Amino acid sequence: MKYISTRDTSKSPLAVSSAEAIKRGLAPDKGLFMPTEIPTLTVEDLKAIMDMPYAQRAADILGRFLTDYDRDALLADCETAYSETSFPGGAAPIVHIGENIHSLELWHGPTCAFKDMALQIMPRLLSRALTMTGETRLAHILVATSGDTGKAALEGYRDVPGVKITVFYPVDGVSTMQKRQMTTQEGANVNVCAVYGNFDDAQSGVKAIFADAALAEKAEQNGFFFSSANSINWGRLAPQIVYYVSAYCDLVKNGTIKMGDEANICVPTGNFGNIFAAYIAREMGLPLGKLICASNANCVLTDFIRTGVYDRTRPFYKTMSPSMDILISSNLERLLFLLGGASMTADCMAQLAETGKYTAPADLMDRLRKVFAGYYCTEEETAAVIGSSFAERKYLCDTHTAVGLGAAEKYRKDTGDSRPIILASTASPFKFPADVCEALGTTVATDDPETLLGTLKKAGGAEPPMPLVRTLSLPVRFTKVVNPAEMATVVFE
Ligand SMILES: *Cc1c(COP(=O)(O)O)cnc(C)c1O
Repeated sequence: MKYISTRDTSKSPLAVSSAEAIKRGLAPDKGLFMPTEIPTLTVEDLKAIMDMPYAQRAADILGRFLTDYDRDALLADCETAYSETSFPGGAAPIVHIGENIHSLELWHGPTCAFKDMALQIMPRLLSRALTMTGETRLAHILVATSGDTGKAALEGYRDVPGVKITVFYPVDGVSTMQKRQMTTQEGANVNVCAVYGNFDDAQSGVKAIFADAALAEKAEQNGFFFSSANSINWGRLAPQIVYYVSAYCDLVKNGTIKMGDEANICVPTGNFGNIFAAYIAREMGLPLGKLICASNANCVLTDFIRTGVYDRTRPFYKTMSPSMDILISSNLERLLFLLGGASMTADCMAQLAETGKYTAPADLMDRLRKVFAGYYCTEEETAAVIGSSFAERKYLCDTHTAVGLGAAEKYRKDTGDSRPIILASTASPFKFPADVCEALGTTVATDDPETLLGTLKKAGGAEPPMPLVRTLSLPVRFTKVVNPAEMATVVFE
């Protein structure tokens, strides 16, 4: 299977292997790589993988997309990535939380957010891609993070051969738990550095390094090249398709649905990556009904689904679900490409870059609305959902999952659609203990990590995950804070 750019309008588009697509991340025309066709998944295929453990299901699904990878190698990588050590108790367990809503808990990995599902396997895929493409240079991964991606990338890339990683985070822009997680990071090939300013300053600094020809040349002389780890890379998207297939199998296995029955999916969204993976699973043939796209107060996607106008020229809100505080949902470009082709996609993206908005064709929106429904939750609604979920469903959820649950409940009420809903639960509540405690009616007046975890443990009647508890006793390794202008120097240290 080959991969082409979402913006390539030429008669015979540049087509690369999946290893090449994963190594490059972004296409040369700044479009995103997409497979030239979507592989099919029949009911027979589902029956064949139903009784397999997660790692084998993953190898099967990934193998349909990454056709140039050796099958045995892929299976070996999946078995290490989704091992009992990394995901104690299983990689993506599903929990019934009442009223036929099923929480797909994607946060049982080493950093307690769903990004582990992709970032535990992607470094292995990149490492093999380097060998497969004859690459002799070292890959230096640069990440600017608002919290979850940075830690998940550090855990995923630590001690991976042929790769180094540097993560930049805004000095006052991440939660106490997130900062603790990153500054205590273990591994010989990792570096973490705080940046004065906000997330945008760190992000702009990283983008400037990527765009600087002189720095690329200097890297070349030092035997490495820069690469990124964010969700525009197909190597991060493909592993996310797996857990929707896996969740469907589990619902059949536990008797919730019969093979072939439809389930709906609800995903709390920022960059449109996680929900786009569900769309691909549906396109493959997984029996899914509606895909409910859940946003927080930064509801640019809800508005787009309802009006057909994508408009990022609006106020930016800092919410209690910070990983969804995004106004440019990069992966939406992939959906536009599938529904409307490269030429239309390139036009829309050019308009977005120039004016901050674009309007999608009406017929495209009709087709899009047959699959997607858009809902959002305000801050008050999100807090209320955390409270009611705990009181009525006996389910403790984090701030992002709560946005999803609130959207799922609104969708049910609006439409009366009673099909089961698989809710993507994207983080452990213990990653956002202050806001979750607050929503449960307990104010915590400190930002000491240990007190925060202890307070939520009492208020929520649950045990904090081991990886978070462990960070409390690890030594802090990284204390450096720099100005954005000094970021390049850090990279070359
Ligand atoms: C990254 C993240 C999201 C948003 O995922 P997208 O792929 O950007 O839609 C939601 N919840 C949590 C906890 C996250 O870390």
